[in-house]
Amino acid sequence: MGRRSSALFYDPTGARYGIPTYPWRMAPAHLLTVRQLAARGKRPGGQSPVAQVLWRSRRYSAPGGVRVAYLYDVRLALPKRVPTERQRAALAKALKARRVCPDCGRDAGYVLSRRLGLCLDCADWEDIAA
Ligand SMILES: [Zn+2]
Repeated sequence: MGRRSSALFYDPTGARYGIPTYPWRMAPAHLLTVRQLAARGKRPGGQSPVAQVLWRSRRYSAPGGVRVAYLYDVRLALPKRVPTERQRAALAKALKARRVCPDCGRDAGYVLSRRLGLCLDCADWEDIAA
């Protein structure tokens, strides 16, 4: 990145862009992208972006060749949601229910087709072929 575009995108007060703006690698350490937060097991947690990173890209046809990444304050971030044991059990049960044929009552071993609503043994061949 050239010196000139670094200066162009350096606006820590947001006077020019309306939101604090930094070139790549010049943002304060506590401001992270969603992906950077996720790598630390966090999520924005409802906060709006507090700053942005702007950079020129030739690889993407962004307006004016400028790309943006939004930054969030890691101090306001929340832990990523991890499903609890109970939620996991409920999900497994729901998936299993979708494998049980209402006609023969057997676990078909696969999620039943929404269209047939029955296992392949119980469904009419004309319906399966349709
Ligand atoms: Zn069946």
